[in-house]
Formats: sequence, structure tokens, C-alpha cells
Amino acid sequence: MLETAKIIDGKKIAEDIKSELKEEIEKFTKANSSRKPCLAVILVGDDPASHYYVKNKEKACELVGIDSKKTVLAAETSKQDLIKEIQSLNEDENVDGILLQLPLPDALRAETQEIVDTIAIDKDVDGLTTLNLGRVFTNDSKAIYPCTPKGCMELLKRYHVETLGKRALVIGRSTLVGKPISILLNNANATVTMAHSRTQNLEAECAMADIVIAAAGKARFIQGEWLKDGAVVVDVGINAITHIGSEGEERRKLVGDVDFDSAKERAGLITPVPGGVGPMTVAMLLSNTFELYQRHI
Ligand code: NAD
Repeated sequence: MLETAKIIDGKKIAEDIKSELKEEIEKFTKANSSRKPCLAVILVGDDPASHYYVKNKEKACELVGIDSKKTVLAAETSKQDLIKEIQSLNEDENVDGILLQLPLPDALRAETQEIVDTIAIDKDVDGLTTLNLGRVFTNDSKAIYPCTPKGCMELLKRYHVETLGKRALVIGRSTLVGKPISILLNNANATVTMAHSRTQNLEAECAMADIVIAAAGKARFIQGEWLKDGAVVVDVGINAITHIGSEGEERRKLVGDVDFDSAKERAGLITPVPGGVGPMTVAMLLSNTFELYQRHI
């Protein structure tokens, strides 16, 4: 029988990356420029989760020596006004990266890609413009990897997970996570299967996979029994659920797309939620900001 899985400590790896970045930024800035790297974040509307994520990103910037500049716009902001704001940041010589916090409010959501595409390619810190995604697709050295997929790959790298020739299953095909991570795994020589809501027999796909990346946004839906013994499981999902506390009170908590308790009995390596991919996304945002800054200096 296999031992219980080793936990991939995304929080610790993200802390390590931030310390490394802090040093690199200080050294590079001292030698090359009078200004620090700068990340501009645009937040539209009052979604509490988005405000929380942006606050985290600002704190992380401060910690490693990156200036951050936040623009908060009302939920009713028109597409034209939002694009005007992006264009003014495109023209600001002191801004290295522009992040449009997603999801946008309902009224703008259908036009997300069109709006994201107005971010200048050399400031596309999240890597989500069509042009940059094309660079990811062609494995161009100028590509900026979207933060969450890049964070997943970095976790695999730092835990010495072999991808060459391995079967990788990506569950989810969004532009933000599933599709780009499939490409990155493919570039890393894995044999990649992309599953989605219309996939037949996901259990059979899981049973064959050496590496499973779960990004479906469905709480605890992937069961441990579906996994191959010793599989590496990276759980991208962040789902808020309500559960009953020890004194019968209702409590909210965050869980992944994988049923962690059953999966850890079967997997070789597994990320927890929280403390897995989430902190890596922020660390990769800092790393992308620094990369764009170096290109601007
Ligand atoms: P999304 O809703 O855009 O995409 C979900 C994908 O899952 C779709 O492609 C859909 O086809 C697929 N899917 C849905 N049901 C399925 C099923 N039964 N079987 C197989 N596939 C199915 O979501 P997203 O933006 O890609 O995010 C996915 C999850 O990752 C969410 O929980 C989100 O909160 C989380 N997320 C986490 C981070 C992070 O930093 N950890 C970053 C981004 C997103």
C-alpha cells in the first residue's frame, strides 16, 4: 500500500520566490535605474473577493520592492471609460505591468477579452492578451506566462516532477487557466489531455494520468479513487463552501476541486487548498512585473 501523499507547500515556495525576487530587484534597481518596478492594478466594481485579492497583491508588491498603483472604478463604468483608463496606463512611462482584475462586473463580462486586448503587449503582466497567448502557443521567448499556469509549472519544477513523456490531464479549458497550462505542459514534453464539461468518463481519464491539474471550479469533485497510484495532483480550484462548525454554527471555508482527504491517500504529491496554487499566482505576478520592468529599463 502507498504511503499518504507528500504535500506540496505552495505557501513556502511562494515565500522563497518572494525573498529571491526582493534581492534580485534590489540588486538590479541599484545597478540600472532610479525608479522601482511598478504594477498598475485596475479593479472594477465592489466584488469583495476581488478587493481582497487586490489588497494581497499590493501587500506582496510592497514586500519585494515593487511600487503598486491601484485604480478603482465603479461597477457601472462603461467599456469606453475602462479602455480609456487602460490606455492612459499604457502611455505612462513609469508603469511596467497592467493587471485588470477579473472577473469584470456582469455588464462588461462578455467583452472581457476585447477589453484585455487593449493592454499594451509590453505591459501585459497577466499574459492574457490574444497577442501574448499567441506567443505562449508558439513557445516564443518573449511570451509572458499567465500567472496561475506559470505558478503550477513552477511548483512541479521545484518538487522535481518529471514531465517529459508523462501523461498530464488538465481538467478545465478556460483561457485563464486550463488552456494555457495545457500548452505549458505540452511545451514541457508531457502528453496532455484537456478535459472539460462535455468530457465523457472523466474517471477513466484520471486513472491514466501521471499528473492531474484540476481547474473546473467544482468543490471537491475529483475523488481520490479516480486517481492513479502515486499521481501528482495540482488543485487550482478555489471554492467557498458552507460547513457546520464544532458548535453547530455555520462556517465558510475554501476548498479545492479535489476531494483532498481521499486524494491524499492515493496521490504521490498533492497541493492543498488554501496554501497550494493560490500563493504561487501572486508570486508569479511579481516575477512577471519584474521581467517586464527589466525589458523597459
Ligand atoms: P471557468 O469557470 O472559466 O472554467 C471552468 C472549466 O471547467 C471550464 O472549461 C469547464 O468546461 C470545466 N468544467 C466544468 N465542469 C466540469 C466537469 N464536470 N468536468 C470537467 N470539466 C469541467 O473557471 P477558471 O477561471 O478556469 O477557474 C477554475 C477554478 O480555478 C475556479 O475554482 C477558480 O476560482 C480557480 N482559480 C484559482 C486561481 C488560483 O490562483 N489558485 C486562479 C484562477 C482561478
